[in-house]
Amino acid sequence: MRKDFAPVLQTALRNALEYLKGLDDRPVGPTASLDELRAKLCKEWKAEGIAGEDVITDLVQSVEGGLNNSPNARFYAWVIGGSLPSALAADWLTSTWDQNAGMYAVSPASAIVEEAVGAWLKELFRLPGHTSFALVTGCQMAHATCLAAARSWLLKNQGWDVERQGMAGSPQIPVLCGVRHATIDRTLRLLGFGDTSLEVLPSNPVRGLDAKTLENALSELRGKPALVLLQAGDVNTGGFDNLAELIPIAREHAAWAHVDGAFGMWVMASPQYEHLARGMELAHSWATDGHKWLNVPYDCGYAFVAEAQAHRDSMSYQASYLSHQSAARDPLDWNPEFSRRARGFASYAALRELGRNGVRELVERNCECAKQIVAGLSRLKNVEVLSEPIINQGLVAFLGPDGHPSDEWNDRVIAEIDIEGTSFFSGTTWNGRRAMRISVSNWQTSSEDVARTIAGVERALESLRNETVASQKF
Ligand SMILES: *Cc1c(COP(=O)(O)O)cnc(C)c1O
Repeated sequence: MRKDFAPVLQTALRNALEYLKGLDDRPVGPTASLDELRAKLCKEWKAEGIAGEDVITDLVQSVEGGLNNSPNARFYAWVIGGSLPSALAADWLTSTWDQNAGMYAVSPASAIVEEAVGAWLKELFRLPGHTSFALVTGCQMAHATCLAAARSWLLKNQGWDVERQGMAGSPQIPVLCGVRHATIDRTLRLLGFGDTSLEVLPSNPVRGLDAKTLENALSELRGKPALVLLQAGDVNTGGFDNLAELIPIAREHAAWAHVDGAFGMWVMASPQYEHLARGMELAHSWATDGHKWLNVPYDCGYAFVAEAQAHRDSMSYQASYLSHQSAARDPLDWNPEFSRRARGFASYAALRELGRNGVRELVERNCECAKQIVAGLSRLKNVEVLSEPIINQGLVAFLGPDGHPSDEWNDRVIAEIDIEGTSFFSGTTWNGRRAMRISVSNWQTSSEDVARTIAGVERALESLRNETVASQKF
């Protein structure tokens, strides 16, 4: 059965362009309710199929209002990037080419594109030349990849072959960290470390882990090799652990130092901000994202491991029916997946579209915009700045109408700003208080967006004030 692809792809292109054209004017957040979406999308699955272009037209209509317009330049919730034009186009072609990027023999070009992307990223992050890498679905899986290598290496150093013997009965690996992202806990769970292996050390939310604290904790382990998890860019403050100071301490104690740099590692592109990640290259492994600051479409993350052999030992699987290539790099030797999307193409496009200067400009502009937004908000009544942006993340709290901290009011204001629709923010609990996060990682965000954002927040505050006054009258 051969079908003509043209009508359905043209339908997709037309709708894609329309979506992108309207992106700047549509409310940033979703507008459809849960019930509406279920009513529109959870249809009866019929015995008879439908023409492809009708499926696409109907899909576009049905998701209306249910998409979060997160590629918009004024989307500041969580840490979410948009898609650079070439990365989006390369992603379309990736699906068109439909390559299985598990092995060189199955898709030579995908394998070589990944080699190029790995090399460029190592250059950008200035990681040691012998560092191995894997293109994975996100920072979560980058952690899992890196820490599988760490587990293999730490246990091998104690005469335990985890790939053959498993975790049951193995020497325990203590895990030390300060501020950490939730994906760390899930990685430890997936890899069989268990929650009890994790020791969270007291840490300053902005300055990070203290050297003396880490030194003492490692000394108390009396030579038991540990895993030390460090942060390059905390989701709330953008704060960095002092890597230049902490990693050598970990190494002195035969520990494995892993860096969570989901977005923070990208400061390496900027002479203005790179000092924050100073000493990063001394670590054993690094995890970061492409779908955040590089503005590659979902999903895209990168794992890097300085102990390449441990990385390969933990992932490689040689089966007789596969055609392993000795000279080329087979992604399945380095990746947790087997069959996999050729996600290298989108990264390849993004890195080439931006060039070194473009990545630098993007990072610096986003940091500048985050600062401008926090400064703009700080000039409004009853706004308290909780954390000035160090890079592209900031925190403010909306004080109640009486000028006192109020978690409830803070969350009401965020909801009102999102309803107003000029921009979209999310909340967090930080130091025991509800706050609003300002997170800027979209390639399109400009000073003009900052001005529109502040004006939108003012309108939301005004409308809440009127509502409050009205409710007091009646
Ligand atoms: C987003 C994020 C992660 C998880 O990344 P995913 O791509 O969502 O898997 C981990 N650490 C930090 C600091 C993050 O910001």
